[in-house]
Amino acid sequence: MGKKINKLLVANRGVPAVRVMHTCRDRKIRTAAVYSTPDRLAHHVFMADSAVHIGEAPPVESYLNMEHMINAALQTGSDAVHPGWGFLAENEKFARMVMDAGLTWIGPPPEVIRLMGDKIQAKKIAKRANVPTIPGIIDVKDIKEIKKWLRKENVEFPIMIKAAAGGGGRGMVKVESEEELATAFSQAKSESMRAFGDDTILVEKYIEFGRHIEVQVVADEHGNIVHLFERECTIQRRNQKIIEEAPSPTLNENLRNEICFTAVRLMREMGYRSAGTVEFIFDTSTRKFYFLEVNTRLQVEHGITELITGLDIVSIMLDVAAGKKLPFRQPDIHPNRWALEVRLNAEDPKTFSPSFGTITRLQVPQGPNVRVSSGVYEGDDVPPYYDSLFMLLMTAGADRADAIRVMDRALGRNLRVEGIKTLQPLLLSIIRHPAFIAGEFSTRFLEEHHDELVSMFKEKDSEDEVLKIAKYVAEISALGPQGWM
Ligand code: ADP
Ligand code: ADP
Ligand code: MG
Repeated sequence: MGKKINKLLVANRGVPAVRVMHTCRDRKIRTAAVYSTPDRLAHHVFMADSAVHIGEAPPVESYLNMEHMINAALQTGSDAVHPGWGFLAENEKFARMVMDAGLTWIGPPPEVIRLMGDKIQAKKIAKRANVPTIPGIIDVKDIKEIKKWLRKENVEFPIMIKAAAGGGGRGMVKVESEEELATAFSQAKSESMRAFGDDTILVEKYIEFGRHIEVQVVADEHGNIVHLFERECTIQRRNQKIIEEAPSPTLNENLRNEICFTAVRLMREMGYRSAGTVEFIFDTSTRKFYFLEVNTRLQVEHGITELITGLDIVSIMLDVAAGKKLPFRQPDIHPNRWALEVRLNAEDPKTFSPSFGTITRLQVPQGPNVRVSSGVYEGDDVPPYYDSLFMLLMTAGADRADAIRVMDRALGRNLRVEGIKTLQPLLLSIIRHPAFIAGEFSTRFLEEHHDELVSMFKEKDSEDEVLKIAKYVAEISALGPQGWM
């Protein structure tokens, strides 16, 4: 308690590393970066006050290498470690190692990370706290158990087979019929073993017209827990979010209060500290919400909550890790904006296959109500080894239509990325789609509208040509024929 943070090791790369360092700059906290060989010239390395090479390209040798990470912290004279998101952010063992080395861990207690990292344990705790959970079975050994459950509880397909250790949308398979069951079960198991080194499985009813709604919570060690309202992240590809907004266009005041206070109750029950998110899936047909999981870390989409509340969540994490009290109470939190975020992944916008290479041109959106959270600069390389997210683009407005309008400007007019493929065309088609604008969509939006969205893409080359001609015409009409022409 009362530990002052003078220097912080940021145990991450790219967008989250840069994001955390911005707050450190504001707070006059010095920063230490870590990097793998291909990242030696990465944006986060230049931003930090010092930087340590921690290994080769494969994550297990660098960004997942806990020993190297701790050594880097000690070697740079850091007194605290922020894990960002992904990599070691939800690793109980790493949190303990940080604390055992006498450093301050910027995150929740290791025990909470352990319990919430396991979707089965998390579901048990939610049930105990009277939080509604999706009907299903846990610790599933074979498909006979699944068939028995389907019969006994009268459950109809589709169902969802999930890895207990899963994350980032991986280790999750939707099953449409009994014929697919055996294949899907072994697929989920092997995917989970490969990605998480564990193949414990749970099975749930598939929520057909689900909307993903989550609640941001912050908590200190003095028993204060405050929610910062909800975000909706229903627009997903492969069960991973690509567009998020705050507030949720789905909820009325009653449901909003219910879902937010349910999240606080659950976090209180487990003795949460730091920033964390309780995720729910909202069934549009019954208007009921069910617990999905708790993410025990800073989340990718935390920035839209910052835009509607005016708070800095990373700064709050630093303060509560140093033993301070939350500087506000629930009635002090008054969101008064609408915010939207799109995830710019280096991916083919039609197939989602990863893209990498040198960013030969990068024009970053500007103008009123725009926030950019980038992990790269022009001329930078996007290496093939890591997550495809390279930039978050956020916009705000007085209401939803306003935020969408600003996003249309930022995505459609301002942003230019050359050298790698990005989701830009897809994201633009989505925010211009009538169903998105009307707020009428489910987690299946992308599969339902895929071809239509792709047909809305503009061919970039022809657009470039048109732009060149337009500029030329404008120049002549403004200046009149020039002597050199
Ligand atoms: P959020 O819920 O914050 O939006 P995502 O599910 O999109 O999070 O994951 C955030 C980031 O963390 C992504 O880059 C994802 O690839 C990564 N990630 C998520 N879970 C894991 C995990 N268990 N191990 C490693 N990386 C993960
Ligand atoms: P992860 O750890 O990969 O983020 P989650 O349990 O949070 O896993 O689920 C990610 C997404 O997968 C959800 O936002 C939702 O779209 C979908 N999903 C998960 N479980 C179900 C379910 N039972 N029914 C329908 N969709 C689901
Ligand atoms: Mg999730």
